[in-house]
Amino acid sequence: MNRVIIINGRVFTPGQILEHSAVIIEGGKIVEITEGLDPTGYAGATIIDAAGKAVIPGFIDIHVHGGVGYDTMDATPQAIQKMAAFFASHGVTGFLPTTVTASREAILAAIENTAAGQSRSTGGAQVLGVHVEGPYINPSKPGAQPLQHIRPADPDEYRQFFAWNNVRLITLAPEIPENKAFIPYAVQQGATVAVGHSAASYEEVLDAVRLGLSHACHTFNGMVGLHHREPGTVGAVLTCAEITAEVIADNVHVHPAVIKLLVQAKGVERTVLMTDAIRAAGLPDGTYELGGQPVTVHEGVARIATGSLAGSTLTMDRAVRNAMAATGLSLAEVLPMASYNPARVIGMEREKGSLEPGKDADIVLLDDEEFKVTLTMVGGWVVYEA
Ligand SMILES: [Zn+2]
Repeated sequence: MNRVIIINGRVFTPGQILEHSAVIIEGGKIVEITEGLDPTGYAGATIIDAAGKAVIPGFIDIHVHGGVGYDTMDATPQAIQKMAAFFASHGVTGFLPTTVTASREAILAAIENTAAGQSRSTGGAQVLGVHVEGPYINPSKPGAQPLQHIRPADPDEYRQFFAWNNVRLITLAPEIPENKAFIPYAVQQGATVAVGHSAASYEEVLDAVRLGLSHACHTFNGMVGLHHREPGTVGAVLTCAEITAEVIADNVHVHPAVIKLLVQAKGVERTVLMTDAIRAAGLPDGTYELGGQPVTVHEGVARIATGSLAGSTLTMDRAVRNAMAATGLSLAEVLPMASYNPARVIGMEREKGSLEPGKDADIVLLDDEEFKVTLTMVGGWVVYEA
């Protein structure tokens, strides 16, 4: 059995930082976290010396389209592999490749390819399923989702989305009657349903929550804002305890003060960091593509021709640093927003999201001063080293 021991770490466990501690890993799972371990008793084990660095649960990005030139919609094994390797270099150990609004054929091809990526090792971050963003959204809030493919939910079509049993998250606009009718089916199939690219009123969101909606896609972006007499989509997301809320913490999509507001309203335990990154992430400024449209990236900010923001070039490690700066919270306090909470949103909190015996050994070493990722391990195997 593959036995690995990380020694000399500051190990971030739920609610406690253990100094000078070791994490013992067997067969890809954490079996023990202990102080002051003498590794000489573990002949044959691979020893990783953390040298006092932070040992943290790997990040889980549940909303990410692409990176380093590749996109989920490419629907190729190579795209999944390249994305997985790039994300791992930024501390991500698990992710949901995310589709965009497109033709039925294109979405199905991407879902099928994601399922194939899930069934084998990527050599980087693990594919945990697929996030289907659109096509059942509101044409009045498209953002960078291609308008011509936005449509109401169609049972003939959405039944096919579930053919590979890998849809973990679906983003829709619940104010459209066909989409609302789809919510109970999606929940029954094991997907989490998010409100997004939506013009839903406060009441319409609460109605959808009664049907099983429980998450919000990039809160504040692509939804009706808060007015004190008309709380809108944002007012419902901020106040409804059943809803967990994503935020793109790149300081472009949302002002840092509003990130702070979100965390104050939802609490650390209901806020989820994600990237919404596109194929331009990890590459220089230039012209790229999203959903068949040209995207121009200038100083790291991606926009389509209408001027609408088109995803981001954010990485999860930067999202964590930005969230710490915006809220004044410590690394230990912010970490669940990038690990445990996203795991819980997709129903995987028993296996992933924190460092505890019995959980998957999805672990990152972080330089404690700069908060830079120096090593990423997925299921007990090192997939990235700086
Ligand atoms: Zn997106």
